[in-house]
Amino acid sequence: ATFGTLSDRLTETFRNLRTKGKLTPADVDGTVREIRRALLDADVALTVVKDFTAKVRERALSDEVNRALNPAQQVVQIVNEELIAILGGEQRRLQFAKNPPTIIMLAGLQGSGKTTFAGKLAKQLEKDGHTPLLIAADLQRPNAVNQLQVVAEQAGAAIYAPEPGNGVGDPVRVARDGVEHARRALHDIVIIDTAGRLGVDAELMKQAADIRAATQPDEVLFVIDAMIGQDAVNTAKAFQEGVDFTGVVLSKLDGDARGGAALSVASVTGRPIIFASTGEGLDDLEPFHPDRMASRILDLGDILTLIEQAQEAFDEEEARKVAEKLATEQFTLEDFLEQMQQMRKMGSMKKMLGMLPGMGQMKQQLDDFDEREVDRTEAIIRSMTPAERRNTKLLNGSRRLRIARGAGMTVTDVNQLVQRFEQAAKMMKTVARGGVPNIPGMGAM
Ligand code: GDP
Repeated sequence: ATFGTLSDRLTETFRNLRTKGKLTPADVDGTVREIRRALLDADVALTVVKDFTAKVRERALSDEVNRALNPAQQVVQIVNEELIAILGGEQRRLQFAKNPPTIIMLAGLQGSGKTTFAGKLAKQLEKDGHTPLLIAADLQRPNAVNQLQVVAEQAGAAIYAPEPGNGVGDPVRVARDGVEHARRALHDIVIIDTAGRLGVDAELMKQAADIRAATQPDEVLFVIDAMIGQDAVNTAKAFQEGVDFTGVVLSKLDGDARGGAALSVASVTGRPIIFASTGEGLDDLEPFHPDRMASRILDLGDILTLIEQAQEAFDEEEARKVAEKLATEQFTLEDFLEQMQQMRKMGSMKKMLGMLPGMGQMKQQLDDFDEREVDRTEAIIRSMTPAERRNTKLLNGSRRLRIARGAGMTVTDVNQLVQRFEQAAKMMKTVARGGVPNIPGMGAM
């Protein structure tokens, strides 16, 4: 889904930070470089990326981070704040005119989702007790009027359209007449759908600018397809120069877009994103919240927990609890994960262990220990419900599939983890019954 890869990349970057106490300038630079690459790969415009990373870097090297109790977490917070800022800061709602009708004009490339959005907005406004009128001023595309009629009907909204067969008419005039009609018929909101071309062209811009001049809209919403990628910035700028707009609608955010458009447009044009369109159905429309979008991109909940966990020290109390659980055979996936995390912390003890007699085998096991394994294990276990973590017998095929998706991994990965856990659990039982001592959880890795 949108932001999936970007999210994963940023999470990964912060994962690498999380075990650090103080951050050196090299740590900060490494992190900033990773963020920069992740954003560029997500098609975020270069100017935006440069600006963003410069700000993050400056703040990450400042006292704000140095003095923080938890520097890594502070860096994540900074990235979050700066992300919110490039997404527009505060949420901006649709603005209504003091004297109705409120006139909303839509502009954007053909196929960007204007007509669909017109229907979605009309439906939402109807629900809120408004009486929107849709105006079909897209006389370019042969079927556009017809398509608007269909969505208007689905939305239960009124429509003003030129007579059939009269499709070669003047869109500026249709828009103006439509607004007049709305005044007479006491519609409190007017939504004007305009023509789009496949690419930006002068004639299209002039037509849109003329419609704007003739109808004096309260809002001009620029609809942009989130999948457009690197073209987002040029398209948005062309529309800003040609028509200018008061707000942005991001459409197709449900798709596989890499999210670059979302992250570039608000910041490059200085215009707020007001709506996110997330599907083909008329109910798939959400007000845009910069802070929520940033959290979604950063998977913030997850990252912060990860960092907190990493900072808990290796704890004897924990070890004792595990031993107790073992004795009562309640060893769960959560315990398994905890053990793996402890193994990671023990990694730094490797050298010392190697010098102690009789520790050769343990050192070998530590050498074989793959840090990334802990991350993968963590992701999988985190995708499970508490009940599943306590009882792996619940894990049927569909649950495993859901968990794999949630963790961004394959069912095979999930199967392997469960298998390893079950082997470890079996071994633990042996240990608990006084069998051959071994390092818990390591045997099967
Ligand atoms: P217009 O030419 O700008 O009026 O674009 P349309 O409204 O006709 O949309 C073009 C295509 O994109 C249509 O097939 C729509 O069903 C589809 N579409 C519009 N908005 C969305 C959206 O938010 N998500 C998805 N998945 N498809 C959308």
